[in-house]
Amino acid sequence: MAQTLTHAQSEESASAAPWYRTCRRWGQTNLTEVDPVRYDNAWWRNHWRKTAIQGVIVNAGGIVAYYPSADPLHHRAEHLGDRDLFGEIVAEAREEGLCVVARMDSNRADARFYHEHPDWFTVDAAGQPYRAGDLFIACVNSPYYDVFIPNVLREVIERYRPDGFADNSWSGLQRDRICYCVHCRKAFRDHANAELPQKHDWDDPVYRAWIRWSYDRRIAIWDINNETTRRHGGEHCLWIGMNAGDLIAQGKHFRDYQAIAERTELIFLDSQYRHPGMGFQRNGEFGTLLHGLLGWDKLIPESMAMYGAGQPSFRLASKTPADARLWALEGFAGTIQPWWHHIGAYHEDRRQYTTAEPLFTWHREHEQYLVDRQPVATVGLVWSQENVDYYGQDRPDERYRLPWNGMTDALIRARIPYLPVHADHIERDVQAHGLTTLVLPNVGTLSDAQCAAIRRFVAGGGGLVATGETSLFDDRGRKRDDFALADVFGAHTTGAYHGASNDDRQSWDEWAQHTYLRLAPERRRWVYGPSTGTEPDDDTPRHPVFAGLDETDTISFGGRLEVVVPAADATVPLTLIPPFPIYPPETAWMRTTHSDVPALVLNESAGGRVAYLAADLDRTFGRSRLPDHARLLANLVRWSARDRMPVAVEGPGLLHCQLYRQGDRRILHLVNLSGHETGFAPVDEVYAVGPITIRVAMETTADEARLLVAGDCADLTSRDGMVEVTIPSIADHEVIVIEPR
Ligand SMILES: [Zn+2]
Repeated sequence: MAQTLTHAQSEESASAAPWYRTCRRWGQTNLTEVDPVRYDNAWWRNHWRKTAIQGVIVNAGGIVAYYPSADPLHHRAEHLGDRDLFGEIVAEAREEGLCVVARMDSNRADARFYHEHPDWFTVDAAGQPYRAGDLFIACVNSPYYDVFIPNVLREVIERYRPDGFADNSWSGLQRDRICYCVHCRKAFRDHANAELPQKHDWDDPVYRAWIRWSYDRRIAIWDINNETTRRHGGEHCLWIGMNAGDLIAQGKHFRDYQAIAERTELIFLDSQYRHPGMGFQRNGEFGTLLHGLLGWDKLIPESMAMYGAGQPSFRLASKTPADARLWALEGFAGTIQPWWHHIGAYHEDRRQYTTAEPLFTWHREHEQYLVDRQPVATVGLVWSQENVDYYGQDRPDERYRLPWNGMTDALIRARIPYLPVHADHIERDVQAHGLTTLVLPNVGTLSDAQCAAIRRFVAGGGGLVATGETSLFDDRGRKRDDFALADVFGAHTTGAYHGASNDDRQSWDEWAQHTYLRLAPERRRWVYGPSTGTEPDDDTPRHPVFAGLDETDTISFGGRLEVVVPAADATVPLTLIPPFPIYPPETAWMRTTHSDVPALVLNESAGGRVAYLAADLDRTFGRSRLPDHARLLANLVRWSARDRMPVAVEGPGLLHCQLYRQGDRRILHLVNLSGHETGFAPVDEVYAVGPITIRVAMETTADEARLLVAGDCADLTSRDGMVEVTIPSIADHEVIVIEPR
């Protein structure tokens, strides 16, 4: 549709749309308290222009005020003096035609404030205040959030009329500490008719009630702040907070993305860089996961560190350009919008100023392809915050993150596009995107209603891959007697398991996890004893889930395996070989070569093709990265999806493929992560790969394939509903646009 509008019409409709629908590139100079004496207005204005940003995020108040607030308790930046730095930057941004978001940071205050209102601050069970360095941490249930913050918002709006607000630490005290202040005591008693929990105990119903109540209060703060900003600033003056991409972090901050997405027009994503052990691909995934909640027509700008964020972090150093770029390019592929972020207004390491310009000007040139589009995938991965919290409890890395990352990284290696699907949105998303298979990577917690939706999907012919303890717990983490989806899996739990899941290191003398899995039927059967030798090769065809594993009868394992009883009509093509010594080498031989312990159960009696993986290959791949585990995981997904994939990519390298549609047009992002799958050493160089051949399923004939990075057209052939394009070489990324001319 957009193409048929004249330029003038486009301009007109763009100007009518509110800022949160139109502002696609942001910049943030995150002011420090010394910046009022050194902020160089002309230099930063020039940087705004060079980087083609449309909006700025400017420090206003909260912990530190960058304007002369009328509230004497509102701490002014140490070097603010008589300057109104926030006001100056707002005025200059307006002269440049930019959107302005006022940045707040509202969860702590100095001793002066504390002594004036001690009951507004968090305290431990002994009544001692929780502190962060010299500052006192404000309580979300106190008038600090009901009165002080709304007053600051009103003051900023009345004086400066920003378009909206961000807030760095709006959700207050994290989950690892319980506040026992008078406001919390009273509010919890009124809510739960119980006293605050004395300790962290997930088995205690009062603790679980405290968790839910803590989430609800953050949502109430979201609503209070938006009510305030809209009342004083008009309907488009939104308060957007800041949120992490990582669900474990969101849980620790009591930030409920599902509830937030239901009430916001925009997400400010504070997920600035690749954390240790995490690949760049996580950023693309954050985008797809959040758009799945928020809608694909909305925007998700993300703060991206131009400084040396990582472990360790260096606030004033430059991040290597390749590292910053790969994070941003994954964001583009996940339909995230760029937002450069510098800490402080003056740097002696000036290299950080050169990273954003080429990224942002490329984004400006091609933005019509980078927003307002629908994802194309046939595989959905199910998630929920309840699974991360109530099942993950105090071990969310082991129970949620490793299985999720292992499964999704196996799909990325296999170039299988997937979409995160919230467990409450299964039917909606299956219908909207035409998903043909669902994957449940150790999703322990599922409600009865969520299980019913999965059961209906499979009954209708949908494929399913589930692993580990999936559906063994209800939506508050209480253990069930059997998998709620036992009938779908064709497998029942016994409650027993082999191996441990939390050993990530194994010494030569410690062999408890020296285990293997046996593939059936074996190609060669070794017979022990006096008649030692091999039987003739068995050429019975193996199940397609073992594609690529022809020359082996066993694969290494080393993980945890749920002991299950398979249903009579289910197939068990993979079994456990129990542990045996690893050292000294003379002892490293299989004592028990065969067992009946199922590692994989295939069931086609519930409707579609279902694979239940009792061996935690998703977790082990997340942890140990053994290629056989990734191969088997991808094969299971392909089999359950009956090989229906919207794109095929051939050629060397690790390429993260994300596909979109805009009407008849297809847009394929390929981000080259070769060599950078998981590591956290800063990337200093990218290794180009090619040639790469892609085949994309199209409903219409296509005439043109444009390469938005290489800047030219590629030869295209069209056959049997698939369009084939070969790309000579890809450096850090390529975006291929295929469409009728
Ligand atoms: Zn409190």
